[in-house]
Amino acid sequence: MSDVKVRFAPSPTGNLHVGNLRTALVNYLFAQRMGGHFMLRIDDTDTDRSTPEFEASIRADLNWMGMKWDSEDRQSERLDRYDAALADLVAAGRAYACYETPEELALKRKAQLSAGRPPVYDRAALKLTDDQKAAFEAEGRRPHWRFLLEDTDVKWTDMVRGDVSYHMSSLSDPVLMREDGRVIYTMASVVDDIDHGITHIIRGEDHVTNSAAQIQLFEALGATAPKMGHVALLAGADGEGLSKRLGSLSIAQLRDEGMEPSALASLLARIGTSDPVVPQVSLSDVVDGFDLSRFGRATAKFDPDELGQVNARVVQQLGFEAVAERLGEMKVDGGAAFWVAVRDNLSTVVEAGDWWQVCTQTITPEIEDQAVTDAAADLLPEGELQADIWGAWTKAVAAATGVKGRGLFMPLRLALTGRRTGPEIAPLLAFMGRDRILARLRGEAA
Ligand code: GLU
Repeated sequence: MSDVKVRFAPSPTGNLHVGNLRTALVNYLFAQRMGGHFMLRIDDTDTDRSTPEFEASIRADLNWMGMKWDSEDRQSERLDRYDAALADLVAAGRAYACYETPEELALKRKAQLSAGRPPVYDRAALKLTDDQKAAFEAEGRRPHWRFLLEDTDVKWTDMVRGDVSYHMSSLSDPVLMREDGRVIYTMASVVDDIDHGITHIIRGEDHVTNSAAQIQLFEALGATAPKMGHVALLAGADGEGLSKRLGSLSIAQLRDEGMEPSALASLLARIGTSDPVVPQVSLSDVVDGFDLSRFGRATAKFDPDELGQVNARVVQQLGFEAVAERLGEMKVDGGAAFWVAVRDNLSTVVEAGDWWQVCTQTITPEIEDQAVTDAAADLLPEGELQADIWGAWTKAVAAATGVKGRGLFMPLRLALTGRRTGPEIAPLLAFMGRDRILARLRGEAA
């Protein structure tokens, strides 16, 4: 293993959607590609909104994708580490106690905005005397704690965005801990990344501002910031931000719609790069083609229709062994022969079940040209109904009726399947069986 160590750090306050699944995937693929370590960190300090159910669903989604993590940790078990870090920062003069209430802060912001100034925290708390602090405490106020930013330009070479320079005077000193003693993500994440030896932080570009402040925090805590990479956020196909529907589209929904994990991975690993999407049947193949340096700053467009197309191309490449269990659950027991007969026509694996029903359950045939279907019934060869009878059979029907091409094949399809489109019929005959074929050609439900 190399010393590369990355983490995916979901907050269990909701289900994963395509955007955060992509962040997970990019970290996973990067780790695999570099022979590194992929960690799952549960950011569960928001005790009001974190639930065990969301956490379970996040784990289920990662497992379904096949993204195994090498280790895991959770923030709620590390609270003493955050207290210790805060104490260090206070001792170093980099964290300070503030007593403003949310209402007071809101008023300040309003006043700044109406005076045309940016709503940056004015550091009034830095000027409080010990007596004033004692008076607040006596009133029952508890302090919240802020990090004292250094008024410099924070610079880093971002793995995705290239050279970034962030002017810190435009930022408020970030709050590290609330008055009730609950830690804020900004500090918890840095403490974790230090303790876990994270070498690369890869996340969405909505974290760029956090990163600027966190780089100073890493340094204030005596560490060096990991390398950073901020991938562009997902947008809908029209280039606008993800619509409400797409933004909240859960991975479970995509799974229920029949999307294959490797189709999702194939797409999410390539949108936002200028490389073509290559439908891969396994995650390890996606790893092989992964290159973080190909990601650019342009928003990555996520188009559910494109996912559907990639999925169809994945399904059409899946071997029988990859689907045997699912076919079994659907009571499709035509073995590999049936799978191979239908798969080129499928968009999802579940659709194989529909074709199994068409072959083995009663359908209502549609008789479009009775002369053709009657002749076909009369001329159906004796013996086994292997696919290779199709050529001679349809030739005989053509000879008997004088009908060829679409005029011949569409009536046969409509009679035998009740549908206008579908897989090649020849290999399905064996699954339909002689009685059903004859009855359908005669126009009887069978
Ligand atoms: N829990 C944070 C989030 O979901 C993690 C961000 C990070 O990767 O540091 O936004």
